[in-house]
Amino acid sequence: MINGKAILFSAPSGCGKTTIIKELMKHFPCFDFSISATSRLPRQGEVDGRDYYFLSHEAFMQRVAEGQFVEWEEVYQGTCYGTLRSEMQRIWDMGKVVVFDVDVNGGRNLKRHLGSEALSIFVMPPSIEVLEQRLRTRGTDSEEAIVRRLARSGEELSHASEFDVTIVNDELSRAVDEARRVIETFLG
Ligand code: ADP
Ligand code: 5GP
Repeated sequence: MINGKAILFSAPSGCGKTTIIKELMKHFPCFDFSISATSRLPRQGEVDGRDYYFLSHEAFMQRVAEGQFVEWEEVYQGTCYGTLRSEMQRIWDMGKVVVFDVDVNGGRNLKRHLGSEALSIFVMPPSIEVLEQRLRTRGTDSEEAIVRRLARSGEELSHASEFDVTIVNDELSRAVDEARRVIETFLG
């Protein structure tokens, strides 16, 4: 059931979705972030129920079997992420706009599901070299995880044209301003 609006951000990992969303949340009090469920372990500083709902693989799959997800993906081998129906409804029940940070397949699936009620935004890195550099500078992933994330990025970037808007995250303040403008137009 759809009874509200949504803004969804997708991009390969490291392109800057989380950073841009954090900035936008300061400007749009009507936004509430959709906290995804994941079967990965928390990174240092991440809090259960704030950054993600951290679940064991078994608990995640139990919710899949119960049909609790609007969409879910095994984004990396053995690591699942998904959007809970209850989370989306919780935000709409408060009369707020749902903001999603999902992988590229998740973004395509959510857009298909939500149609014109959702604005889908693809965040593009200035280049693959810059993306690699940002993943390393972030310092949250092992070398193996960085290689895995980069390996996925080429295929993900090929879907950019399926999104309503593409924003190149070169200079952060410029990218945030551009995102603000397209969101203001969408929300009317
Ligand atoms: P994502 O959520 O897409 O995985 P993040 O928001 O975690 O990406 O950004 C990845 C890294 O790049 C972080 O260390 C972040 O501080 C940095 N970053 C994001 N946007 C920019 C930018 N425009 N210029 C330089 N560094 C950036
Ligand atoms: P990270 O491990 O860096 O937090 O996230 C890895 C990837 O999973 C990112 O591309 C992020 O957007 C994606 N992701 C986070 N939550 C969801 C979700 O609910 N569904 C899908 N499909 N992808 C998600």
